[in-house]
Amino acid sequence: MSYCVNCGVELDETAGVCPLCETQVYHPRYPVNHTASKPFPTNRAEVSMASRREVALLITVMFVSVALCCGLLNLFLRTQRIWSLYIIGAVLTLWVWSVPPLLKNIPLWFRLFLDVIAVGTYVFLIAVDLDGINWFMGLALPILSLLMAVMLFLGISMGGGRSILSGMTLVIGTIGVFLFGVELFIDFWITGAYHPTWSIAVLATSAALVVPLIVVRRVPNLREEARRRFHL
Ligand SMILES: [Zn+2]
Repeated sequence: MSYCVNCGVELDETAGVCPLCETQVYHPRYPVNHTASKPFPTNRAEVSMASRREVALLITVMFVSVALCCGLLNLFLRTQRIWSLYIIGAVLTLWVWSVPPLLKNIPLWFRLFLDVIAVGTYVFLIAVDLDGINWFMGLALPILSLLMAVMLFLGISMGGGRSILSGMTLVIGTIGVFLFGVELFIDFWITGAYHPTWSIAVLATSAALVVPLIVVRRVPNLREEARRRFHL
């Protein structure tokens, strides 16, 4: 067994030079064995990436088998409600979220639009099953519409390849506005009047984060400093 005289790494009998520091190997008692097989492959190659089509197919198969298993279980474990439809609906929603973007280069705003439509349809079907059209129209629909508006705003404003700093500012700001709207709708649905509590705290926190981010983005020196520190 030889060791590299320069860096001390243990050397295979077939190594003519050290694999780490490329120092010539010379051992008077154990000459380099040129005939034995090398411990590493000698030609470089890259593992080919799985194609997006194959990943989409794999996800689809997984979702279909989950849906089928739940449907079959539901047949054997009969209950009052067809509970498996809830899981199948959730699986369909997840499918809309994950598979279409793998197959086509869909613009961001349209992807987010599809995602919200999928969630809305799922919530609507739950409402139909639970005789909850009342709460769907009064509470869920306004919140979903606001979510749609927020997602379209984010999708259109972030679609053109913005910097991470602007992206963070936009996302934090819209989360604050969205949660403010959620509390507004919940208050109006329950009491008919608006009594702000937690959403004001969220809105204040998001404003407290957005203002410094805008300042950092506007001042070139600060922006450079932030890029360097946070590897943006
Ligand atoms: Zn070495």
